[in-house]
Amino acid sequence: MSENEIACLYIVATPIGNLADMSQRAIEILQSVDVIAAEDTRHSGFLLQHFAIKTPSVSLHDHNEQQRSETLLTRLQQGESIALISDAGTPLISDPGYKLVSLVREHGIPVIPIPGSCAVIAALSASGLPSDRFSFEGFLPSKQGARLQTLEKLATDTRTLIFYDSPRRLQSTLIDMVTIFGEERRVCLARELTKLHETINTKPLAELLDWVSNDPNQQRGECVLLVEGAKQHQDASEVEVNRVLNLLLKELPVKKAAAITSALLGVSKNNAYDMALKLQHKD
Ligand code: SAM
Repeated sequence: MSENEIACLYIVATPIGNLADMSQRAIEILQSVDVIAAEDTRHSGFLLQHFAIKTPSVSLHDHNEQQRSETLLTRLQQGESIALISDAGTPLISDPGYKLVSLVREHGIPVIPIPGSCAVIAALSASGLPSDRFSFEGFLPSKQGARLQTLEKLATDTRTLIFYDSPRRLQSTLIDMVTIFGEERRVCLARELTKLHETINTKPLAELLDWVSNDPNQQRGECVLLVEGAKQHQDASEVEVNRVLNLLLKELPVKKAAAITSALLGVSKNNAYDMALKLQHKD
């Protein structure tokens, strides 16, 4: 058995790129448990081989988690110890494992975290954006309508907002962010963390979009986007004006959209008109 005499489930973080980030404790736990539940056993085979870990593994992924969790619970109840790993980083963070952990805890079996790499935390720590309050939002919806709606709900949030994104969608995500958060909101793109081409760049949204659009290399690899929260008062109303204008401009001409926004939110007609023109030129 492992470092602890009672059978338990270990949640083991693995590197997000650089194998030197694997902790000594993670290696020892993976060597000593009876079985490793891995998101993809073939993918993790490379990592386990690198650290001379010979423990057998079984798969636990989005499609078999319910049923596999029951089997693993039985093994824990029989006194075996189990470690859960995902393809990279910390399990359960935009990765499978939630059903297993809640089931195991419901049955009074200890669940022990073995902390380590996690892209959201690594990105936040180096972004230069406020880190005292943040909200991890995972992946945005892939359909544009749903993505805009999600962003709209977050537009006045004052916390730093953190998203995982795929390089294929990065440019569309940034375009939608400019629409909802405005051109000036600061955003950090943290790409290929801990790897050879690691890039961490924080700029106003419009500038970052420009940079990414003109450099195809920035649209490769894995990435995290961090958006500065809305400013406490003043920007919250600006964000609201943008939000209402965006909705109205889908159905109405600029002048009408501006007049309705002005009546609804009490901003001057001229201001609403200027903001509506800006938004329209972005499309
Ligand atoms: N569990 C992982 C963690 O702890 O960060 C996240 C798994 S999630 C399926 C994969 C996403 O995490 C990627 O699409 C990317 O957004 C982010 N990610 C993972 N590794 C990264 C890296 N080295 N650099 C930047 N982002 C990374």
